[in-house]
Amino acid sequence: MPAFAKRMSQVRRSFIREILKVTADPSIISFAGGLPKPDLFPTGPIADAAARVLAENGPAALQYSVTEGEPALRQWIADRYKKKRGLDIDPATILITNGSQQSLDLLGKVFLDPGDVVGVELPGYIGAIQAFSVFEPTFAGVPLGPEGPDIDRLTDVLTRQRAKMFYAVPNFQNPSGLTYSLAARRAVSEAMRVSDAVFVEDDPYGELRFMGEALPPVSAFMTQDRYLLGTFSKIAAPGLRLGWVVADPDSLPKLVTAKQASDLHCSTLVQRILVQYLADNDLDAHIATIKAAYGAQRDLMVERIKAEFPEGVAYTEPEGGMFLWVTLPEGCSAFALFDLCIKEKVAFVPGEPFFVDGSGQRTMRLNFSNAEPERIVEGIRRMGRAIEKLLET
Ligand code: PMP
Repeated sequence: MPAFAKRMSQVRRSFIREILKVTADPSIISFAGGLPKPDLFPTGPIADAAARVLAENGPAALQYSVTEGEPALRQWIADRYKKKRGLDIDPATILITNGSQQSLDLLGKVFLDPGDVVGVELPGYIGAIQAFSVFEPTFAGVPLGPEGPDIDRLTDVLTRQRAKMFYAVPNFQNPSGLTYSLAARRAVSEAMRVSDAVFVEDDPYGELRFMGEALPPVSAFMTQDRYLLGTFSKIAAPGLRLGWVVADPDSLPKLVTAKQASDLHCSTLVQRILVQYLADNDLDAHIATIKAAYGAQRDLMVERIKAEFPEGVAYTEPEGGMFLWVTLPEGCSAFALFDLCIKEKVAFVPGEPFFVDGSGQRTMRLNFSNAEPERIVEGIRRMGRAIEKLLET
């Protein structure tokens, strides 16, 4: 074995990616993935946009470009914040990244030294835990409830444990599907205001709301030390690998330097294709189509869970996004259920890897965005049977 750097020793392979290998078998009904529905990708319009970009200004699209990102794309993002959220964002504070995953990596690089405390939700997004782990922090879990994070615990993590960062997904969280209430958003911004920590708000699902009222980002209540992450992965296509960070104006140059050191800049060609696609198409209409499909699948999954899962099993009823969260009765193990379910040819992700404190044994994540309705009906039926078997043992 070569002598790998110490920093890699804490970094776990993504557990979900390991599960996806098991569920690659097409006979397994899988609620384990976290993928958008591929039939909804705008393949034709992207092909048209690509042809136009190459025909009209091919050489410039194939040239190196600036690290901050294509000016037209940064402007489009700022305009959309204004139009959809009423937020005034200066395009000069936006850095285009290779998806939110790179935004997380850059924020880790810029802010985290070994041993720094990072507050994360319990459960928390596993990709962020993995991205930050490279920088050898200590994670402090902040339990998440139906209204938002436990504010007393957050305050303790920020003040007594002197956290350097709090990372949160306030809309239709991955993995739980939970959304912070307006009061929780204000309370989080207040807790952040009186601490020295930076707030990292990851919002890949905010535009995928099927019901209820849209709420402002927590960052809207803050004036400094907040980083708001967005992505085109869930509203256009993840293969584009384009996302962004709205940064504190003073910190943008540091993030730009970190990105330069990593990859110079995002693909000029892909950014220009996306700008052309956004100019020539109605993104709102496209998002409406996605929401109609995911919303119907979410309704069906909730309805079937109500009908098929035994008494005592709790579940979230998300108002948007791609995930639903199930909690088994006291004493049950989601890993034991996973083994039973694989025998029944149905899969999900056990919740424990999402908990930095090692708890969550009774929990699991189900994805509804990438499952056909007939498979939702059959898959939930099989899961219900497996849970009954588990409860009998
Ligand atoms: N953050 C969260 C909360 C996510 O669920 C995902 C996608 N699974 C990402 C970030 C990564 O998204 P991207 O494709 O933009 O890197």
